[in-house]
Amino acid sequence: MEFEEKTIKIFIDTSKCPDCESKACIEACKIYSRGILQLKDGIPSVSHLDPEEIKRKGTECLACEYQCQKNGNNAIRIEVPIKGLSEYMAKRNLK
Ligand code: SF4
Repeated sequence: MEFEEKTIKIFIDTSKCPDCESKACIEACKIYSRGILQLKDGIPSVSHLDPEEIKRKGTECLACEYQCQKNGNNAIRIEVPIKGLSEYMAKRNLK
């Protein structure tokens, strides 16, 4: 599953979720965002919101990714684009 907030893109490999005991992403989303991730049939879902609602409600806090890595099954990856980073890295011969 994937969805977008204002500037970030969230990817969740939901095949890792059914046997996740903590479901830590859900609680993290309630605490640090506005609870946009909800559990549906044992996996996190945003299907109760339309794409514009997700962008309006999302706080881009990254808490779900952190909690999933720490207490879940490492199923979440978030892309955070940083304008100018590629040019900066190339200019300094960094990867
Ligand atoms: S914490 Fe990670 S593995 Fe567990 S339900 Fe959430 S996304 Fe899936």
